[in-house]
Amino acid sequence: MRVSVTEYLDIELPARRWICNRCSTDLGPADRSYKEGCLIANRNPREVHPVIGTDEHFNFSFDPEWIRLIEFYCPGCGTMVETEYLPPGHPLTWDIQFDLDAFERRHMSQPGRASSEDHR
Ligand SMILES: [Zn+2]
Repeated sequence: MRVSVTEYLDIELPARRWICNRCSTDLGPADRSYKEGCLIANRNPREVHPVIGTDEHFNFSFDPEWIRLIEFYCPGCGTMVETEYLPPGHPLTWDIQFDLDAFERRHMSQPGRASSEDHR
């Protein structure tokens, strides 16, 4: 059974695996961050938020020495599953962490509920 967690991510039960719901690629164990199973792009934020104006410090953009735009992609289909802004060198954040025993009890006791197949 698959449980939809985000727009692009499911958890497969009882295997407890992150799954891309666009192409079914396994993104790793659900007791770890799905980000570890993704392709990661470390981008200069000015590629997305260009400098406006000529002031070095007040230009509506990010200083790439202080912040990076991190993008996470499914290695199977290339779907962007998440983005975050982090200081250079900062560890990836672990944004979705479940009590998997409780998660499994809740969803396995209600067969057919919240299947990603229902959302397509
Ligand atoms: Zn995919």
